[in-house]
Amino acid sequence: MTTRLTRASAQARPPAPVRAVHLGLGAFHRAHQAVYTMADPEWGIAAYTFRNTELPRRLAEQDGLFSLQVRGEGQPEAVIVDAISRAHPGGDTDQWLADLASPDVALLTLTITEAGYRGDQDGSAIGRVLAGLRGRHRAGGAPIALVPCDNLPGNGGVLREALRTAAAGEAPDFRSWLEDQVSYVDTVVDRITPATTEEDVATAAQLTGFEDRAPVVTEPFSEWLLSGDFPLGRPAWEKAGARFVDDLSVYAQRKLRFLNGAHTLLAYAGSALGCATVDEAVQHPVLANLTASWWDVAARHTPLPASELADYRQRLLLRFSSRGVRHNLVQIAADGSQKLPARILPVLRAERAVQRMPEAPVAALAGWLIHLRDGPVSDPRADELVPLARSRDAARRVLSALDTALADDAGLVSAVEDHVEHLRLSAERIS
Ligand code: NAD
Repeated sequence: MTTRLTRASAQARPPAPVRAVHLGLGAFHRAHQAVYTMADPEWGIAAYTFRNTELPRRLAEQDGLFSLQVRGEGQPEAVIVDAISRAHPGGDTDQWLADLASPDVALLTLTITEAGYRGDQDGSAIGRVLAGLRGRHRAGGAPIALVPCDNLPGNGGVLREALRTAAAGEAPDFRSWLEDQVSYVDTVVDRITPATTEEDVATAAQLTGFEDRAPVVTEPFSEWLLSGDFPLGRPAWEKAGARFVDDLSVYAQRKLRFLNGAHTLLAYAGSALGCATVDEAVQHPVLANLTASWWDVAARHTPLPASELADYRQRLLLRFSSRGVRHNLVQIAADGSQKLPARILPVLRAERAVQRMPEAPVAALAGWLIHLRDGPVSDPRADELVPLARSRDAARRVLSALDTALADDAGLVSAVEDHVEHLRLSAERIS
């Protein structure tokens, strides 16, 4: 029988003092920010999620420990990650407020999904952050760094805007504190981390000798670029390879378009062609061509040296094709209404402005239409979009929900309609 993973059984260090708080405790935080933080033993994380209570409960039973399986081409390797000092189940609002009020806490990281930045009600992630900051202001107003780690361009600015909007009715002194004493750090994050499966639990036991009910699986590659101030300090994340730069925008663009854009393309066009995972899709001849053509198009609008982009493409292709980490297209297909505008549409607009009709973004939109029509759809705008996708004139009406100028582009609308038909015929030929 395997021993349950705990700090005692693993002979791990005692939990480090909590100086960082995280919201959105899921797979990615644990494969990414927790691993970087582990490089600095002075910093412990208190991790929260107000949604899914199963994972924090499991982690709490393991004293915050979990195993990280790094899967490349060879044998997987497992390490025990010990940076999470406390994991909090759903209802721990009082502790959340206490942590954010504490001047010992210097930063808050977030992985609340792209959609999470929209909400401003009390129960939303933004509402919870605002409540925490209100308490911090009242408790003396120590400064804090907010470090969003979701795939949104200019995520620091997006978070600042979301909080500004949510704080519109608040007292003026609190509102100016939010502007002056809260630092909004921009980040680019990258490490493909799929949802954990029951099989991963069995592999964790084999690799570590411990019964770990909350393992995470990830790829060898990891990237974290940050830009912004940390008024109360930060962990020495650079020891684990994080890079601090002055201007992130071009790297954010590179990642969003090349990696996330290709993911979105594969998720929609790939699912329409019957693929289930990224590695399967990127090796499908039609999708391999579409991916290459997407990268050609994206390169025209990304101001980095051609050799650097070529190198980045090469590494992406290796990562996408790897069967070490199998990334489900269903997971990537969620929240298309939030992802397409950041990942695909800016390039499409730039191409249409010079009268080009690039196939790959058209295919991504066509695949998305099919996804919305046939479901299942996980998207904050699903109630509005699904009926549009099932109506007559679906391409124009769905496009108009994203961008009215694109919906008025008759050539584009008909190209998307044709591509829906093209994907349907290709799928029929395969089955
Ligand atoms: P996940 O489903 O494993 O975890 C997300 C966690 O956050 C869950 O516990 C969920 O309950 C919680 N959550 C989601 N929305 C929330 C909200 N609005 N308020 C409070 N809690 C919320 O997903 P994940 O793989 O950890 O990915 C989370 C995010 O991280 C992604 O949406 C993406 O923006 C970013 N990210 C993920 C990857 C990856 O490969 N998985 C890579 C780069 C960036």
